[in-house]
Amino acid sequence: MVWPCPLPVDAYVAAGRQVEVPRAGCPSCGGPMTFWSGYRRYVRVGGRCRKIFVPRLRCGRCRVSHALLPAFVLAWRLDVAETVGAVIGQVAAGVCGVRPAAARAGVPHTTARGWVRRFGGRAVELGVGFAALAVELGGEPSRPPAGAGRFALAAIGAAFEAAAGLPGWLALGRWRFASAVSGGRLIAANKSSPFLIVGRRRFMPPVPP
Ligand SMILES: [Zn+2]
Repeated sequence: MVWPCPLPVDAYVAAGRQVEVPRAGCPSCGGPMTFWSGYRRYVRVGGRCRKIFVPRLRCGRCRVSHALLPAFVLAWRLDVAETVGAVIGQVAAGVCGVRPAAARAGVPHTTARGWVRRFGGRAVELGVGFAALAVELGGEPSRPPAGAGRFALAAIGAAFEAAAGLPGWLALGRWRFASAVSGGRLIAANKSSPFLIVGRRRFMPPVPP
Protein backbone atom coordinates (compact mmCIF):
# COMPACT_ATOMS: atom_id res chain seq x y z
CA MET A 1 0.00 0.00 0.00
CA VAL A 2 1.17 3.50 -0.76
CA TRP A 3 -0.18 6.59 0.99
CA PRO A 4 -0.09 10.06 -0.57
CA CYS A 5 2.74 11.38 1.62
CA PRO A 6 3.48 15.06 0.88
CA LEU A 7 6.48 15.28 3.27
CA PRO A 8 9.94 16.07 1.94
CA VAL A 9 12.14 12.97 2.29
CA ASP A 10 14.29 14.77 4.92
CA ALA A 11 11.25 15.40 7.09
CA TYR A 12 10.11 11.80 6.70
CA VAL A 13 13.59 10.51 7.67
CA ALA A 14 13.75 12.86 10.66
CA ALA A 15 10.38 11.65 11.97
CA GLY A 16 11.69 8.07 12.20
CA ARG A 17 9.20 5.70 13.80
CA GLN A 18 7.10 8.67 14.90
CA VAL A 19 6.14 9.49 11.33
CA GLU A 20 2.43 10.26 11.15
CA VAL A 21 0.65 8.10 8.62
CA PRO A 22 -3.06 7.83 7.87
CA ARG A 23 -4.94 4.93 9.41
CA ALA A 24 -5.89 3.29 6.16
CA GLY A 25 -8.67 0.75 5.78
CA CYS A 26 -7.86 -2.84 4.83
CA PRO A 27 -7.44 -3.10 1.04
CA SER A 28 -9.23 -6.47 1.03
CA CYS A 29 -12.20 -6.02 3.37
CA GLY A 30 -12.22 -2.26 4.10
CA GLY A 31 -12.12 -2.97 7.84
CA PRO A 32 -10.01 -1.08 10.38
CA MET A 33 -6.31 -1.92 10.68
CA THR A 34 -3.93 -1.50 13.60
CA PHE A 35 -0.23 -0.65 13.65
CA TRP A 36 1.92 -3.74 13.55
CA SER A 37 5.60 -2.82 13.83
CA GLY A 38 7.37 -2.06 10.56
CA TYR A 39 10.76 -2.23 8.91
CA ARG A 40 13.55 -0.02 7.64
CA ARG A 41 14.62 0.34 4.06
CA TYR A 42 16.81 2.63 2.00
CA VAL A 43 15.81 5.24 -0.52
CA ARG A 44 18.21 7.20 -2.71
CA VAL A 45 17.49 10.87 -3.15
CA GLY A 46 19.84 13.41 -4.70
CA GLY A 47 22.54 10.73 -5.02
CA ARG A 48 22.42 9.97 -1.29
CA CYS A 49 21.03 6.86 0.42
CA ARG A 50 18.70 7.51 3.34
CA LYS A 51 17.17 5.02 5.73
CA ILE A 52 13.42 5.29 6.24
CA PHE A 53 10.95 3.56 8.51
CA VAL A 54 8.03 1.83 6.80
CA PRO A 55 5.14 1.07 9.18
CA ARG A 56 3.05 -2.05 8.80
CA LEU A 57 -0.67 -2.17 9.44
CA ARG A 58 -2.56 -5.35 10.19
CA CYS A 59 -6.16 -6.32 9.52
CA GLY A 60 -7.41 -8.52 12.34
CA ARG A 61 -10.28 -9.83 10.26
CA CYS A 62 -8.13 -10.95 7.30
CA ARG A 63 -5.08 -11.71 9.50
CA VAL A 64 -2.89 -10.02 6.93
CA SER A 65 -0.44 -7.18 7.40
CA HIS A 66 0.37 -4.52 4.81
CA ALA A 67 3.38 -2.22 4.54
CA LEU A 68 2.42 1.42 4.22
CA LEU A 69 4.91 3.01 1.85
CA PRO A 70 5.17 6.80 1.45
CA ALA A 71 4.39 7.95 -2.10
CA PHE A 72 7.97 9.03 -2.80
CA VAL A 73 8.89 5.32 -2.83
CA LEU A 74 8.30 2.90 -5.69
CA ALA A 75 7.98 -0.76 -4.79
CA TRP A 76 11.31 -2.62 -5.12
CA ARG A 77 13.16 0.51 -6.33
CA LEU A 78 15.92 2.30 -4.44
CA ASP A 79 15.46 5.69 -6.11
CA VAL A 80 12.61 8.02 -5.20
CA ALA A 81 9.64 8.45 -7.53
CA GLU A 82 10.72 11.98 -8.51
CA THR A 83 14.13 10.74 -9.71
CA VAL A 84 12.64 7.85 -11.67
CA GLY A 85 9.94 10.12 -13.09
CA ALA A 86 12.41 12.81 -14.13
CA VAL A 87 14.42 10.30 -16.17
CA ILE A 88 11.36 8.62 -17.68
CA GLY A 89 9.74 11.98 -18.43
CA GLN A 90 12.75 13.37 -20.29
CA VAL A 91 13.38 10.25 -22.33
CA ALA A 92 9.73 9.46 -23.15
CA ALA A 93 9.12 13.08 -24.18
CA GLY A 94 12.13 12.93 -26.49
CA VAL A 95 14.00 15.69 -24.63
CA CYS A 96 17.19 13.63 -24.43
CA GLY A 97 18.54 10.08 -24.37
CA VAL A 98 18.93 7.84 -21.33
CA ARG A 99 22.60 8.65 -20.73
CA PRO A 100 22.29 12.43 -20.22
CA ALA A 101 19.06 11.94 -18.24
CA ALA A 102 20.81 9.42 -15.97
CA ALA A 103 23.80 11.75 -15.51
CA ARG A 104 21.52 14.64 -14.55
CA ALA A 105 19.67 12.46 -12.06
CA GLY A 106 22.92 11.08 -10.60
CA VAL A 107 22.00 7.43 -11.18
CA PRO A 108 23.84 4.68 -13.07
CA HIS A 109 23.09 4.53 -16.78
CA THR A 110 22.05 0.87 -16.60
CA THR A 111 19.57 1.61 -13.79
CA ALA A 112 17.99 4.44 -15.76
CA ARG A 113 17.85 2.28 -18.89
CA GLY A 114 15.95 -0.38 -16.93
CA TRP A 115 13.31 2.17 -15.84
CA VAL A 116 12.89 3.52 -19.35
CA ARG A 117 12.54 0.04 -20.87
CA ARG A 118 10.00 -1.05 -18.29
CA PHE A 119 8.00 2.15 -18.75
CA GLY A 120 8.12 1.66 -22.51
CA GLY A 121 6.93 -1.92 -22.16
CA ARG A 122 3.96 -0.86 -20.03
CA ALA A 123 3.29 2.47 -21.74
CA VAL A 124 0.10 1.46 -23.57
CA GLU A 125 -1.41 -0.10 -20.48
CA LEU A 126 -0.40 2.89 -18.32
CA GLY A 127 -1.66 5.36 -20.91
CA VAL A 128 -5.06 3.70 -21.16
CA GLY A 129 -5.39 3.34 -17.38
CA PHE A 130 -4.36 6.88 -16.48
CA ALA A 131 -6.35 8.45 -19.35
CA ALA A 132 -9.48 6.69 -18.10
CA LEU A 133 -8.68 7.73 -14.53
CA ALA A 134 -8.37 11.37 -15.68
CA VAL A 135 -11.88 11.21 -17.16
CA GLU A 136 -13.20 9.38 -14.08
CA LEU A 137 -11.89 12.25 -11.94
CA GLY A 138 -13.63 14.83 -14.10
CA GLY A 139 -10.78 15.74 -16.44
CA GLU A 140 -11.30 16.67 -20.06
CA PRO A 141 -10.87 13.80 -22.50
CA SER A 142 -8.14 14.67 -24.99
CA ARG A 143 -6.69 13.23 -28.15
CA PRO A 144 -3.72 11.05 -27.18
CA PRO A 145 -0.36 12.06 -28.66
CA ALA A 146 1.32 9.65 -31.06
CA GLY A 147 3.75 7.18 -29.52
CA ALA A 148 3.03 4.99 -26.51
CA GLY A 149 5.55 6.70 -24.23
CA ARG A 150 4.24 10.20 -24.93
CA PHE A 151 0.67 8.92 -24.56
CA ALA A 152 1.45 7.44 -21.12
CA LEU A 153 3.20 10.64 -20.01
CA ALA A 154 0.33 12.83 -21.17
CA ALA A 155 -2.20 10.54 -19.50
CA ILE A 156 -0.33 10.60 -16.16
CA GLY A 157 -0.21 14.41 -16.43
CA ALA A 158 -3.92 14.65 -17.22
CA ALA A 159 -4.88 12.33 -14.35
CA PHE A 160 -2.70 14.32 -11.96
CA GLU A 161 -4.27 17.59 -13.10
CA ALA A 162 -7.73 16.14 -12.49
CA ALA A 163 -6.71 14.73 -9.07
CA ALA A 164 -5.10 18.02 -8.05
CA GLY A 165 -8.62 19.42 -7.67
CA LEU A 166 -9.25 16.95 -4.83
CA PRO A 167 -7.96 17.80 -1.36
CA GLY A 168 -4.39 16.72 -0.60
CA TRP A 169 -3.17 15.69 -4.03
CA LEU A 170 -1.71 18.85 -5.56
CA ALA A 171 1.23 19.00 -3.12
CA LEU A 172 2.37 15.54 -4.22
CA GLY A 173 3.50 16.37 -7.72
CA ARG A 174 2.79 14.04 -10.62
CA TRP A 175 5.29 11.26 -9.87
CA ARG A 176 4.33 10.80 -6.24
CA PHE A 177 0.74 10.86 -7.45
CA ALA A 178 1.53 8.15 -10.02
CA SER A 179 3.23 6.04 -7.36
CA ALA A 180 0.39 6.52 -4.88
CA VAL A 181 -2.47 5.61 -7.21
CA SER A 182 -0.64 2.62 -8.71
CA GLY A 183 0.30 1.17 -5.32
CA GLY A 184 3.98 1.85 -6.10
CA ARG A 185 3.77 -0.42 -9.15
CA LEU A 186 4.25 2.16 -11.86
CA ILE A 187 7.22 0.30 -13.33
CA ALA A 188 6.84 -3.02 -11.51
CA ALA A 189 7.47 -6.32 -13.24
CA ASN A 190 3.99 -7.76 -12.69
CA LYS A 191 1.92 -8.12 -15.82
CA SER A 192 -1.48 -7.55 -14.27
CA SER A 193 -2.72 -3.95 -14.29
CA PRO A 194 -2.78 -2.51 -10.80
CA PHE A 195 -5.94 -1.02 -9.41
CA LEU A 196 -5.67 2.72 -9.43
CA ILE A 197 -6.68 3.98 -6.01
CA VAL A 198 -7.55 7.58 -5.23
CA GLY A 199 -8.52 8.02 -1.60
CA ARG A 200 -11.30 5.53 -0.92
CA ARG A 201 -12.15 5.13 -4.58
CA ARG A 202 -10.81 2.09 -6.37
CA PHE A 203 -10.66 2.25 -10.06
CA MET A 204 -10.19 -0.74 -12.32
CA PRO A 205 -8.11 0.28 -15.32
CA PRO A 206 -9.60 -0.79 -18.65
CA VAL A 207 -7.80 -3.41 -20.65
CA PRO A 208 -5.77 -1.86 -23.50
CA PRO A 209 -7.19 -2.49 -27.00
ZN1 LIG B 1 -9.20 -7.08 5.97
